[in-house]
Amino acid sequence: SSGGAGTSGTRFDLERETELRFEVETGERVQLELFSGMAEVFGSELNRNKKYTFGPGSKIAVFTWHGCTVALSGKTEVAYVSKDTPMMLYLNTHAALEQMRRQAEKDNERGPRVMVVGPTDVGKTTLCRVLLNCAVRLGRRPTLVELDVGQSSISVPGTMAALCIERPADVEEGFSVQAPLVFHFGSTTPGTNIKLYNKLTSSLAEVFSQRCEVNRKASVGGCIINTCGWVKGSGYQALVHCASAFQVDVVLVLDQERLYNELKRDLPHFVRVVLLPKSGGVVERSKDCRRESRDEKIREYFYGFRGTSFYPHAFDVRFSDVRIYKIGAPSIPDSCLPLGMSQDDTQLKLVPVSPGRDLTHHVLSVSSVEDESEVGAGQSRGILESPVCGFIVVTAVDTQAQVMTVLSPAPRPLPRHTLLIMDIRFIDLK
Ligand code: ATP
Ligand code: MN
Repeated sequence: SSGGAGTSGTRFDLERETELRFEVETGERVQLELFSGMAEVFGSELNRNKKYTFGPGSKIAVFTWHGCTVALSGKTEVAYVSKDTPMMLYLNTHAALEQMRRQAEKDNERGPRVMVVGPTDVGKTTLCRVLLNCAVRLGRRPTLVELDVGQSSISVPGTMAALCIERPADVEEGFSVQAPLVFHFGSTTPGTNIKLYNKLTSSLAEVFSQRCEVNRKASVGGCIINTCGWVKGSGYQALVHCASAFQVDVVLVLDQERLYNELKRDLPHFVRVVLLPKSGGVVERSKDCRRESRDEKIREYFYGFRGTSFYPHAFDVRFSDVRIYKIGAPSIPDSCLPLGMSQDDTQLKLVPVSPGRDLTHHVLSVSSVEDESEVGAGQSRGILESPVCGFIVVTAVDTQAQVMTVLSPAPRPLPRHTLLIMDIRFIDLK
C-alpha cells in the first residue's frame, strides 16, 4: 500500500504499543511526520510537525507507547501497522540494564557491559541503537563498540571502532560520530584474518577499560557491543573471545536458540545470557544491498551526508613519501613455515606493499602511528595497535612518475605517512 505523492500523504492512526513499518523504494524518498501523540524511531523521539526524510532502501519502524497519528508521503515499498512487536521486551531489557547502572553507581562499581549477538538479519544493530538511545535519554554515557567489519555504524567498512554516545541518534542520520576510536581491520569479514580480528577486539577492550578507570560516567554507562552475524566456527570463537576481553556481564542473543545454548554452556556462569525474539519487521538484506550500503558509507565519509556536504581533495602523493603495509602474509601450509614461526605470526605480520597499478581504487587507512617510529620485523606492534586517523582512496597510480593520486577528506599534506591497505575498493563516480 503505497502512500500517494501528495503533500498530505497517507495518515496512520497507531494504537498504543504498536508500530508502523515502512520501506522506501529504490530511487525514492519518503517523508514522515508526527501529528499527535508521541512516537519514536528505534529509540529516538520524534518531534511533532517536523518532516523527517528517509532515503532509498531505508527500513523504518515508528513505535508508539500510548498511540499517535503520523503521515507518510512519497513512494513506500511497504507500509503497514503491526501489533506484534518485541519493542516492549527490548525496553524491559533496557530497564534491567538501567537497574544495573543504578546499582553500579551505588556500589562504586562498573556498569553493564553488554554484547549483542545473533545470525545475520535479526536486528542486532537496531537493538544496539534502541538500548543506547534509551540509556542516553536517561543521562547515561554508554559506549557503542562496533565489531561488525561488514556494516559498521561508526566508521567505514573494514574497521573496528568505539564511540562514546552523548546524545540520542538523529532520526534520519543515526548517531553523531565525533572522536571515535577506530582501528584498521582491512576487510569486510572477520574470517579474512581472525587473529587480527581478535587482537583488535582486545585492543578496543583495553582502551575502553582504561577510559572507565578515569571516567566515572563512562564506567557506569557501560558498553553495548555490536557483533557480526557470523556465529559458527571461528566466528563463534570470536564471540567467546570478545565476551572475555570485555568481561561482559550480559549477552543478548537474538533469535537463535542454538547460539543461546552454546553461549550458556561456554561462558562463565556469572554472565547473564538472554534470548530475545527478533522483530518481524527486520528485513533481510541481499549481498548487493550490503555492498551498496558499504559503498554508501565510504561515499558519506568523503562527501558527507545530506545536510552537511564535504568537499574532498585530490592530490598526488609520492611513493617515497609514504610507507604502505598490508597486515597478514598470505597463509602457507604449516609444513612450509620457517622453524619457530606459527600461523599467528604470519597473520599479524606487516607486509610492505610496493605501490603499483593494482592499488587503484583501494581504500587506505592512515595510521596515527608517529612517522619517526621504526618498523622492524619485531616492531609491527605499534602500527597494529595504533588507531586510524583517517582514510584515503587511491584514484590513480603513475608508476613512471612514482606517484599516486588520492582522494582525501583534508587537503595535502597527509597527516601521517604510514598507510594500511584494505581489501575494500571504492570507485569514485562523482
Ligand atoms: P546484519 O546481519 O546485517 O548485521 P542486523 O542483525 O544488524 O543485520 P539490522 O541492521 O538491525 O539487522 O536490521 C536490518 C534492517 O531491518 C535494517 O534496515 C533496519 O532498519 C530494519 N529494521 C529493524 N527493525 C525493524 C522493524 N521493527 N521494522 C522495520 N524495519 C526494521
Ligand atoms: Mn548489524
